[in-house]
Amino acid sequence: MSHKSFNPHHRILMGPGPSNVNPKVLDTLSRATLGHLDPQFIGLMDEIKSLLKYTFKTESDATFVLSGPGSLGMEACLVNMIEPGDKVVICTGGYFANRMIQIVEKIGGQVVTVKETWGRAIEPQKLEDALNANTDAKVVAFVHAETSTGALSNIKQLSEIAHKHNCLVVADVVTSLGAIDVMVDEWKLDAVYSCSQKGLACVAGMSPVSFSEQALHHIKNRKIPIQSWFNDLNLLMGYWSGGQKRMYHHTAPSNQFYGLHEALLILKDEEIENAWRRHKENSAKLISRLKEELDLEPIVPSGERIPHLLAIKVPYGVDEAKVRVDLLTKHNLEIGAGLGELAGKIWRIGLMGYNSNEKMIDYFISAMKKVLDKN
Ligand SMILES: *Cc1c(COP(=O)(O)O)cnc(C)c1O
Repeated sequence: MSHKSFNPHHRILMGPGPSNVNPKVLDTLSRATLGHLDPQFIGLMDEIKSLLKYTFKTESDATFVLSGPGSLGMEACLVNMIEPGDKVVICTGGYFANRMIQIVEKIGGQVVTVKETWGRAIEPQKLEDALNANTDAKVVAFVHAETSTGALSNIKQLSEIAHKHNCLVVADVVTSLGAIDVMVDEWKLDAVYSCSQKGLACVAGMSPVSFSEQALHHIKNRKIPIQSWFNDLNLLMGYWSGGQKRMYHHTAPSNQFYGLHEALLILKDEEIENAWRRHKENSAKLISRLKEELDLEPIVPSGERIPHLLAIKVPYGVDEAKVRVDLLTKHNLEIGAGLGELAGKIWRIGLMGYNSNEKMIDYFISAMKKVLDKN
């Protein structure tokens, strides 16, 4: 077998992630590689921290990046915040919140689930009831934008309820960060994690995280040591803080970090509030064109939708998988399938980061018309 250099077709990535990477970000990836303790690289890490504080809307210095995908951030937040035996209330209405449950069970936490219908925002009263019935709960966890269903929960309100019951909060802002309002300090989110490849329009493999003062205090006072070496916050902070004096923890992927830095810079130049507005406006345009030109409807009621990730009902009699294959092979366009309970019933259409613009909406509508034979 002869091997040659890999050169993929260009794809338009309009699924639940990854989204297309801004070409300016891709350019930075090929710059000279630095060692993970090089003073220049440490300077870059400090800039990334400061840009992330802007992006998360937090003043916390325990804001940094894990070298791995969003799932690593999920595991890191949970394994630091939860000790075996701790009671944890998890609000779930989809696949990703269920992943949180699996992780907490592996840690040995006692899970209490607040169940919501897939495709709906978590009903705050259900969390209130669960906390009234479980006064010994220590942590409440939930997902902001449940990418598997397209539903967006009001996590400001969920967090208020959790704190009223003296619980700390772990929040998944993987799909929301950079695309829709996330206010870490104002909403009192104690441990949050995200990813690089969705709203931030960067390459995959990095997970921004942030911990509040209360979370750090809670972690410091644990009785049982953190059950992970790689995700131990104390060790990670030794690498991510301390001026020029850093402790080697792992070899950070320096070129990838150039990309994240550039992506965060682009977001700051646009101003994050403008990015949030852009995502909402383009989403509204896409929804109305889906309805008018293709007779397609979101499954999530308006007011509970993730603007930049729409779960669309597959019309009766249409071969869901064939549509995705045709879009990919004939139009180089990737969209997502349903997961879990929604497999075969929905398509997931992402309009995030660099892709949230009118040109992409036009391209999508025109390709979908051809594939569904609606010209
Ligand atoms: C994508 C996603 C994850 C997992 O992120 P990976 O980078 O794929 O590990 C977790 N939570 C939500 C809500 C997601 O959309």
